[in-house]
Amino acid sequence: MTIPKEYDSHEIEEKWQNDWDMSMYHFDWKDESRPQYIIDTPPPYPTGNFHIGNSLNWCYIDFVARYKRMQGFNVMFPQGWDCHGLPTEVKVEENHGITKNQVPRTEFRQMCEELTVGNIDKMRKTMHRLGFSTDWSNEFVTMEPEYYVKTQTSFVKMKDMDRVYQSEHPVNWCPRCETAIAFAEVEYDSRDTKLNFLHFDKLEIATTRPELLAACVAIAISPEDERYKQYIGQTMKVPLFGHDVEVIADKDVDPTFGTGAVMICTFGDKQDVRWWLEHNLPLRKGIDKSGIITEIAGKYAGMTIPECKAAIIKDLKSEGNLYEQNTLKQNVGMCWRCKTPIEILSEKQWFVKIDNDEILRTADEIEWLPEYMKVRLQNWTNTMEWDWCISRQRIFATPIPVWYCKKCGEVMVAEEEWLPIDPTQQQPPVACKCGCEDFEPEEDVLDTWMDSSITALHVAGWLSDKEMRNPTQLRPQGHDIIRTWSFYSILRSMALTGKKPWESILVNGMVLGEDGHKMSKSLGNVISPEEVIKDHSADAFRQWAAVGGSTGSDVMFRWKDVVSASRFFTKMWSIYRFSMSHIEDELAEITSGKPEKLNVIDKWLLSNLNRLISSVTASLDAYQFDEAYKSIRGFAWETLADNYIELVKSRLYGEDKEARRSAQYTLYVAIDGLSRMLAPFAPFFAEEMYSRIGERSIHVQEWPVVDKTLIDEAIEKDGELIKDIAGSIRRYKSESGMALNAPLEKIEVYASLGDASDLTGVTNSTVEVISGEPDFEHVPVNVKPNMAIIGPKFRKQAGAIIKTLTSMDPVEVANIISKGNININIDGEDIELEPESVAIEKEVISAGRAVDVLDVNGTVVVIVR
Ligand SMILES: [Zn+2]
Ligand SMILES: [Zn+2]
Repeated sequence: MTIPKEYDSHEIEEKWQNDWDMSMYHFDWKDESRPQYIIDTPPPYPTGNFHIGNSLNWCYIDFVARYKRMQGFNVMFPQGWDCHGLPTEVKVEENHGITKNQVPRTEFRQMCEELTVGNIDKMRKTMHRLGFSTDWSNEFVTMEPEYYVKTQTSFVKMKDMDRVYQSEHPVNWCPRCETAIAFAEVEYDSRDTKLNFLHFDKLEIATTRPELLAACVAIAISPEDERYKQYIGQTMKVPLFGHDVEVIADKDVDPTFGTGAVMICTFGDKQDVRWWLEHNLPLRKGIDKSGIITEIAGKYAGMTIPECKAAIIKDLKSEGNLYEQNTLKQNVGMCWRCKTPIEILSEKQWFVKIDNDEILRTADEIEWLPEYMKVRLQNWTNTMEWDWCISRQRIFATPIPVWYCKKCGEVMVAEEEWLPIDPTQQQPPVACKCGCEDFEPEEDVLDTWMDSSITALHVAGWLSDKEMRNPTQLRPQGHDIIRTWSFYSILRSMALTGKKPWESILVNGMVLGEDGHKMSKSLGNVISPEEVIKDHSADAFRQWAAVGGSTGSDVMFRWKDVVSASRFFTKMWSIYRFSMSHIEDELAEITSGKPEKLNVIDKWLLSNLNRLISSVTASLDAYQFDEAYKSIRGFAWETLADNYIELVKSRLYGEDKEARRSAQYTLYVAIDGLSRMLAPFAPFFAEEMYSRIGERSIHVQEWPVVDKTLIDEAIEKDGELIKDIAGSIRRYKSESGMALNAPLEKIEVYASLGDASDLTGVTNSTVEVISGEPDFEHVPVNVKPNMAIIGPKFRKQAGAIIKTLTSMDPVEVANIISKGNININIDGEDIELEPESVAIEKEVISAGRAVDVLDVNGTVVVIVR
């Protein structure tokens, strides 16, 4: 098989992509002999665009999956798709020019499913192209009944154990999307607003939300506030609306803010909810589900929130009840999806009970990588005040399997055997306790996190005919979804199985653009993985992912990293090509076993190779992909290519069969080891390398094991010395203007070095290793008059002086000037010269020959020219 000169990444990556039998990556459910390694892969939202941030995360997962497989684990790298949700609904409305209420529910759902199927297909293609070792036999799609039957079952089970309940409770509400949302879906932004100071009967209050005056249910003051103490328990009239509200005392009121008196509305913000619950206040709904002012506001009813605000401010002013307005910076909660400011509405919703202690306790039983990410979960958990609102007023989601009896109002929750079921399409198969068979379906659907928070259970075999294998081993995910996906997954796994969902969680950072900013269309710094593959290769993209940054930190995308990756593959290919040209024809004999005798430099390489295996294994065990990859690259480029191959070339081309075999064997072991260690990172390149030396795919081979007997410090020291001497002689030749292969008469190395044959080869010279100290003589060979001194001083006589000096015996001149001045005679005149007037050139003589001497890290190397 001829090996092409150039590495054509496009051709080779395409070849392997088509050739690979993906079943080699399947998890074996029946295997009891190998330890399991199940990865709770994130199910991406099927937008149709598998972006660079996904790609970075998946590269990490694939590095781990491939490494663990080679280490003998029964690995599952499943792939799910988290289909449900608002973005798809909005896209469908956009594409079809409709709103969800203009078509029947089933038809709308179908449109969403069609869009999703197409998008999944696009994203799968990118995944294939990036060479991920996905286990497609464990693919799941949350919108399919096979998956959502589990979401529904989990709902029913948690209802049975009283961890799911229905209640009227204030929830975060997006008036634009017209749905409840969870706290985790609220984003905050700082905005300028006006703080309005109002005359309120006998006291003054300050509020940012005058449009909620009609929903005012009390006035709160601090119990210590001397100004207002006397009003506690009294009632006050609300301006414009005239209803009476009580003045209550609460220690949470800040007497220094505004006027020190605040109005409590249902609901202006989260604090209103706290006070409302604590003081058992009445409920006055001021805003409806669409964000419209309700009839309790009289003439303002039907207005939007901003319209009502403007009208009320105008009317308060004309009545003289608004006496001051200040600008105030305020943190406003917004819908994650559409950025509309959220409202708090009290509605009947379904909730999941949150057990903060259980989550914190479980988080401590999980290994967090990096460890500091756990703090984010802990902080979030400690801020949770309300239970998790899981009902949504949308369509494209898992239906809540519940009906309400039309006669007695009884809540009918589906039996597990009825699932999957859509209550809007099917009636329950049994009658109500009261005998009535007519039911109202629950039209609300489940929060999509209800689907995705059971992925760990799903991939571990929950509710299937397979044996349950939880906890899984690894959850890889981004740090932006710790408070949602991690939080909810822990909650659900503990509730449903009493076990933690995973042993370890690996948190990756975000990808930043080349300018250091978050990638965004408006900044024009978005890079797609396809672009990188087109200009370079999938392996180069993967190398960027490996070395771009340490796990957990944000990683900047840099083209120069990709370019240097391509350059490394070019270098690696030339190493490979050279090596194969020396081992391919004799492969059978070379691989039959280790030769009896190995040269020092071969042992040196094997010692270094085993150290490399040891450090790469440790780095991968700690998920330090950058460290692992950099050491592999350093070994290949410097140790192997720049040094080892140069040192053994003469043996490889030489006549001595035994010496050649030693180098061939060592090269083979190095190429084999590098194929294996590169396999998790550069699966295409590694496969191409391995295809000529091994049978079957590199991806079903074992990870190299460290042979400690081959790690030898004394050998390493000798090898380093040989390498350094070879380097010094190369420099010496080039400084002396000699060709690198020009022979030298002799090289003497004063050291205790067992075997210098490779030095002979690489220097193309006789090398003698001599123990003990060299014996040098410094013999004067030339007299060099110093014109700078002689010229100005003797002028006309200078020429004659120089002529005389250079004709003298250098040994004699050296002898005289070592004692003092030198006297010469020029045309009968005695002239005395100071020692500085001449320099003596000396030559190093060893054993009677003129030589050059090199100092190589303290070792004396004598070169006979
Ligand atoms: Zn919204
Ligand atoms: Zn009934």
